[in-house]
Formats: sequence, C-alpha cells, structure tokens
Amino acid sequence: MENWLVKRARLTPNRVAVSAGQQQLTFQEVAQAANKLAGQIAALGDDHPRVAVVTTNTLQGYLVIMGLQQLGKTIVFINRRLSVSEINFQLADAEVSLLLTDDAYTEKLTVAQQVKFSELPAGQAVTPVATYPDEFVTSIMYTSGTTSQPKGVMQTYHNHWASAMGSALNLGLTHQDAWLVAVPIFHISGFAILMRSLLYGMRVALVEKFDAHQINAILIHDTITTMSVVPVMLKQLLADLPEGAHYNSQFRAMLLGGGPTDRTTLHRAQAHHIPIIQSYGMTETASQVVALDPADADEKLGSVGKPLFPVTLRVQDEQGQTVPAGTSGTVWLQSPTLTPGYFNRPELLAKNMQAGWFNTEDYGYLDAAGFLYIQGRAGDMISSGGENIFPDEVESVYAKMPGLDKIVVVGVPDDKWGRVPVAVVQGTALSAAALRQFGREKLAHYKVPQRFYQAKDWHLTASGKVQRRLFTAELNQLQALH
Ligand code: ATP
Ligand code: MG
Repeated sequence: MENWLVKRARLTPNRVAVSAGQQQLTFQEVAQAANKLAGQIAALGDDHPRVAVVTTNTLQGYLVIMGLQQLGKTIVFINRRLSVSEINFQLADAEVSLLLTDDAYTEKLTVAQQVKFSELPAGQAVTPVATYPDEFVTSIMYTSGTTSQPKGVMQTYHNHWASAMGSALNLGLTHQDAWLVAVPIFHISGFAILMRSLLYGMRVALVEKFDAHQINAILIHDTITTMSVVPVMLKQLLADLPEGAHYNSQFRAMLLGGGPTDRTTLHRAQAHHIPIIQSYGMTETASQVVALDPADADEKLGSVGKPLFPVTLRVQDEQGQTVPAGTSGTVWLQSPTLTPGYFNRPELLAKNMQAGWFNTEDYGYLDAAGFLYIQGRAGDMISSGGENIFPDEVESVYAKMPGLDKIVVVGVPDDKWGRVPVAVVQGTALSAAALRQFGREKLAHYKVPQRFYQAKDWHLTASGKVQRRLFTAELNQLQALH
C-alpha cells in the first residue's frame, strides 16, 4: 500500500491530524514535519534497521514516530517507566543500535548511540518511502510482562490495517471523530490510535500525563468523540467526575480494556451515561479483537463482547476439543491482526499456535449468543478440590468491601484440596474474621481465601497490571492477619 501519511496528507491535507494542549497540526503539516525529522534521523547513519524510541505522549514524540515511518524503519517502542536494566534488556533483545529519547529522559542506556530529540543533527531532505509493504514489521512492542519476561511482539502494516478496519466496522466512523490518547503511545493501545488516525483521517488528541481532573475537563469541553482507557484510568475519572456532569454531546465511545473491570465501576460509569465499550485484546493481536456494544452492556454486563468482524474465536478444553456454549476453557483465536511472531524467538509463538489458531492463554467461555466472558489467565486459575477458582472474580467481589483498598488472590499448595486461594490485602482496620465473613456472604465457600496477608509491596507492571507471580514469591515473608 502507498505510504499512509503521504496518502492521507494528499487526501485531506487541511484536516487536523493531531492536537496537544494548545498546539495542533494538519495532516499536511505533520507530513512536512515528519519529513524534516526523517532527514535529521537519516543523518545519524543508515545502518539502523530498528530504532528504539523512549517518549511520553508528546507532539515531538508523535512526529519522531511518523518520521521513522517515512524512513522505513522498524520502531522499537520502549516503556519509559521501566527500570534502566529492564530497558537495557529490551534494547539488547531487539538488537537495537540507535535510541531516540525525549528531552526529559536522562538515564544513560546500553546502546551504541543514544540521542535526544532536541539534539538530532541537521539533515538533508529525504524522499519518504513510497510504499508500506503488508508484511513489513513497522513496530516491535514488548508485552506487559504480567506473567513472564516481556516478549518483543512484531506488528506488520497489515496487522495495523486489519486492526483499524475491525475497529471501524465496529464503532463506525464520522468526520467529527477525535480520539483522546492518554494511554501511552508506546503501548499497542496508544500506537494503534495513531495508525487509525492516518487511515481514517481522524484527529488524535495527545495527553502527556494522566490527570483525571484535566481529562474530565477535556471530555466535557472539547469535541472528543472517543477515548481508550484501562480500568484504573476509568476509576480515577469516575472518582473525579462531579455528580450530574456529562461529557460533551459528541462523545460516543469509552473503550475500556487491558484487564478485568469490577462491576461496581461499570455500574458507576452507567450512572454517568458514559458509553463504555468493553474490549479485549493483547499486544500480540495489535489491540482489541473482541468488543461489547453499549446496546448489550446492560444485559451482558461483565462480558467483553463479540469478536470483531475479522476475528474468529473458539474455546477449547485441555484435550483440544471445542467446548459447548457456557463451558469454560482456553480462548483461541484467528485474526489477521495476529503478530507474525516475537522478535528472534519463533519458538515462542509456535508453542501457542495450532493449525492456524492462536492460544491466548486466557480462560473464559462463550455464551449461547456468542458473547465472550474472560475469567482470567489460564496460568492464574486455582484448581481446588475439583473446582476452578479465578482470582479476578474473587478480587472483583472484594472490591466492594469497605475499608479494603486492594486485594490480590493467589493459589498455594494444600494437602487436602491440592491448592487453595489466599489473599494479600491492603486497607485500614482489617481483620481476617471480617474478610472471611465478607467473602462467605458473597462467594462459594471454596472461593473464599483461606488466609489473608498484610501487603508489604504492591507489585504492578509499568502499565498497572497485577504481577501475581511476585506476590506468590514473597508470601512466606508476609504477616498473616488474625
Ligand atoms: P505478558 O504477556 O508479558 O504476561 P500481558 O499479557 O499483560 O503481559 P498485554 O499484551 O499488554 O500483556 O495484555 C494482554 C492481556 O491482558 C490479555 O491476554 C488478557 O489477559 C488481559 N486483558 C486484556 N483485556 C482484558 C479484558 N477486557 N478483560 C480481562 N482481561 C483482559
Ligand atoms: Mg500476554
């Protein structure tokens, strides 16, 4: 396909492509600025097929990304909140020799060349690459590292194209569309919006730092139509939103995904008439592959929805047999958005592929009408005396308990039951008896954690996901509540 930015700047040169605070640029202006940056980056040498970028959601970071695409480089997206050693691991893993960082980033990393955006040398004009080959890997992005070491997921132009089409066929498109990007542009949730913007001719509104109050003000006063959030962002927006406040009248979709959301939060969003679209996806599928129409939200509360048009789902048991509706198993999918693999690690994808189907390693079920319910990660499931327990469900129930701020449930070995759930908690004036009592009123007996430990550290990935394996690893150092 023809270079997307070049094509878009020719189709709708004067439409606004991006805004950030008071600044905004049209597609034509973005194309010009990206070309200038491409020339500057090219002046650093042409022996860097992959270039890593460390940036927050700034206009300059956005333009550098566009500039790299004009040069035909593969962009390795680095999560700026990771530690130096974690980033060094990713730079080495992706065999990167050139790293571009925003000016605020001051750490020195192990890489041949590390250059700040403002220190890019002067360059000559370059001719942007003419075509974006379907199979070209335009981005490498590391998974969140929730369950294991982060893996470098390769994403092709075709993956991004199919993802943008699947999303548009679900949400529809209007000329007024403007998508607020507060999720990081170095994650698939954010970067996918930049790619959609080129394909749709849609404005992206970049927000550098997540500040619930400031974002609520933008959603109320600016003509934003769409926003992507992870559960913790939605919770903060709701906590800040005054009673009776409404987002602007054009606002039509709050895409919510990345992890499970408790029902209390979903009910609260409904009370504010926020059109929540639950969605499910992963770095490996270039963002969402399943989404829930708000029209179904009431009846199917808790579901992540139906597969997008290009996506096919199947739930299978341990023997590899497709299970009937209502029965739980691992979720497998086929999708044109599926990664061709992890960089330099073909065996990792092969392990999860079978006859063209990809094993998401998530556990869940389809109902009779084809709605998907995610119960948790297959690896987190606790098999206890023949019953399956999903930590996400137990945590979601406990989310309503007064005085309890946070809870993480993990499984531990048990002589009688095989495994039993225990919990690590944070809160005020908590007793094991009260916690047990609360669980017994609302959960089947076997799902109630057998022991409650006072948390020392709260282990989250840089994107805010619970790292259960780290809680499990330190259980024996924690104090049990009485
Ligand atoms: P790693 O693969 O390194 O362990 P990760 O799986 O957390 O990290 P991502 O690709 O960012 O990395 O996240 C995708 C995962 O997030 C999905 O496989 C699923 O477990 C979870 N997830 C995404 N959306 C939802 C949702 N709506 N409900 C429940 N879980 C979700
Ligand atoms: Mg994963």
